[in-house]
Amino acid sequence: MPQRLESESRKLLGRLREALAADSEGQARLDAVVQLIADSMGTEVCSIYLFRDAETLELCATKGLQAEAVHQTRMRLGEGLVGRTAKSRAVINTANAPASKGFRYMPETGEERFSSFCGVPIQRLGEVLGVLVVQSKAAREYTPDEVYALEIVAMVIAEMTELGAFVGEGAALSARHQQSVMLHGSVAQEGATEGLVYLHEPRVVVTNPISDDPETERARLANAIKQLRDGVDDMLVTAHAIDNDQAQVLEAYRMFANSTSWLRRMEADVDNGLSAEAAVEKEQSLARARLSKSKDPYLRERLSDLDDLSNRLLRILTGQGAEARADMPENPILVARNIGPGELLEYGKQIKGIVLEEGSVGSHATIVARAWAIPLIINAKGVTREALNGDPILVDGEQGIAHLRPDETVQSAFRDKLAMQTRAQERYASIRDLAATSKCGTTTSLQMNAGLIADLPSLHGSGAEGVGLFRTELQFLIRNQMPRRAELSALYSRVLKAANGKRVAFRTLDIGSDKVLPYMKANDEPNPAMGWRAIRVGLDKPGVLRMQLQALLRAADGQPLDVMFPFITQFSEYRTARAEMDKAIARETKLGHKLPETLRVGAMLETPSLAFAPDAFFEAVDFISIGGNDLKQFFFAADRENERVRKRYDTLDVSFLSLLEKIVARCDTVGTPLSFCGEDAGRPVEALCFAALGIRTLSMRPASVGPVKHLLRRVDLTEVKSVMDDAIAEGEQSVRRAVADWLVYQV
Ligand code: PEP
Ligand code: MG
Repeated sequence: MPQRLESESRKLLGRLREALAADSEGQARLDAVVQLIADSMGTEVCSIYLFRDAETLELCATKGLQAEAVHQTRMRLGEGLVGRTAKSRAVINTANAPASKGFRYMPETGEERFSSFCGVPIQRLGEVLGVLVVQSKAAREYTPDEVYALEIVAMVIAEMTELGAFVGEGAALSARHQQSVMLHGSVAQEGATEGLVYLHEPRVVVTNPISDDPETERARLANAIKQLRDGVDDMLVTAHAIDNDQAQVLEAYRMFANSTSWLRRMEADVDNGLSAEAAVEKEQSLARARLSKSKDPYLRERLSDLDDLSNRLLRILTGQGAEARADMPENPILVARNIGPGELLEYGKQIKGIVLEEGSVGSHATIVARAWAIPLIINAKGVTREALNGDPILVDGEQGIAHLRPDETVQSAFRDKLAMQTRAQERYASIRDLAATSKCGTTTSLQMNAGLIADLPSLHGSGAEGVGLFRTELQFLIRNQMPRRAELSALYSRVLKAANGKRVAFRTLDIGSDKVLPYMKANDEPNPAMGWRAIRVGLDKPGVLRMQLQALLRAADGQPLDVMFPFITQFSEYRTARAEMDKAIARETKLGHKLPETLRVGAMLETPSLAFAPDAFFEAVDFISIGGNDLKQFFFAADRENERVRKRYDTLDVSFLSLLEKIVARCDTVGTPLSFCGEDAGRPVEALCFAALGIRTLSMRPASVGPVKHLLRRVDLTEVKSVMDDAIAEGEQSVRRAVADWLVYQV
């Protein structure tokens, strides 16, 4: 960068800082800013457009266009050159604007007199807040140095907008993060709650975007970069000690942290008058804009590494976010882009609700939220951008909506809803100790799914008769290293003790697919859900399975024990796994340890193939539990994690019901106990249909036991079955509507 321009740019920023520091209204500040830029760049026009709503830009200040057009001229995102600059998040620089693609003539501005146009997005961390425009009569393209200077200024304007420097009258100048916002997402866990936002990754606020002391800023940047690099090196040393693969990923990350071009770009920004923080954010914004456009997975990964490193750097520079957990509010609602199960468990049950920008229904963080029965909304786009720590928020886990900074009307309607929910809970509590016996006299055993010691108290509170599915992998997932046998045995023994004689069906380790242990070699598989997972890992590398079986036998210490193997696809897999159990028993006997009073070894039926296994399988197995989440995804070929296809097929689709009916019949023939432990068992209408098909044990999250029992007790299952049969005879694709219509008259 030539010395002259460098100092020009710094001079401009210096004057900008004075204008921004003046004790004036937002509008006056904006007017001063456009005047200043036009003067210093020698352009006839300088204008600032800001968003008045998500789709509409408004001319908020101008030097050179008709003054009457201010706050009158508006365009939609993508409309005209200004709208296109915002939409593309990229500079548009043209010598002949009227002839350019997308040009829109706005007579009220008088801009037809100007030939050249340069629009620069005003963006902060990938969010476009507006557009900065310069125009001149002479037909000329602005030089790269001029565009660069405009980008620097736009960066400062973005920071100042975020800080509220331009707050004034009208929607376009309204304060950010103060209006109420309704965010739509999908439900991952039902329930309704109210609380205050607690950001998993607190937003870093840059209060000093401009600096007139590049030497100091360079030194601060260099110092922060050094700390960043040292931190990554430390992570790498730890990773090498644990897992080579993880270390390789970090090596790539370190390469980025050491990138000289990244540092040079930031140093140039600092030399041109930005503070170190603003320079980091400027680069981060550009990376995010590229990330949003790129489809190349390799590039996306690198850009998100850069994003992550920038976040770390900003935290080092500002000191913000280091003690994030210290000021957790009362009734915290966790807001995050995404979160892993380990991180969620670290926060603990104090979290009252969760709203995620991403996430998926089948993820383990979701399972944890379900175990805790706290409302969880996923795919709530924009929530991390909109929410500030401490903002009031209502989480409506029935509709999948979060109301951020709600107004009074919304708040009072929501409180009515909460009161209704409490009344329903009271109703469920009153039948907690009663059996789920339907009017026809059939009793369904309602059990609960668990995976943590913390879940066990729900066994009493929910009225569940036992734990129909204990997901043992959660204990493996929340650790940094493989647990030892003695540790596991102590843990399972605590589970059995807490169950106090009620049944617990321990499922052996189900890893792979979305459940990746941080300390085990990750496999790069194209289709992990159909890859090396669950019992397939257990049989190929039996060390962990053996340790787990031994830990379970010891924990039982003479009491009855139920164990089941996940993802059994063929009889032979069950046989081999069961042989491992036999070997474990032989070993324990030899060591003189007590054996369980009764031992039942079951299989999870999670792939359609097992429903068609030889009769001998149904005879050999002690019980079968249908893992409906997986069974459904393979039956319909619809990824349970993919929100787009997940909901496309109904659990009550007649073809899926026909598969279930077949499984019921095969189990009945040989007298093998059958249960259903996928999430659908906890949905009252689904549960009713499963019971009507003859499934006598349903295992669900604890919060569902009450509603399911309430409904089961009010109906005659033979009537439900005939409603289902009629719908099937009439050629319906799903029995849902018929059952739901019938239910209206029953309850
Ligand atoms: C299932 O697939 O239905 C099941 C219970 O197992 P998970 O959800 O843990 O895969
Ligand atoms: Mg499963």
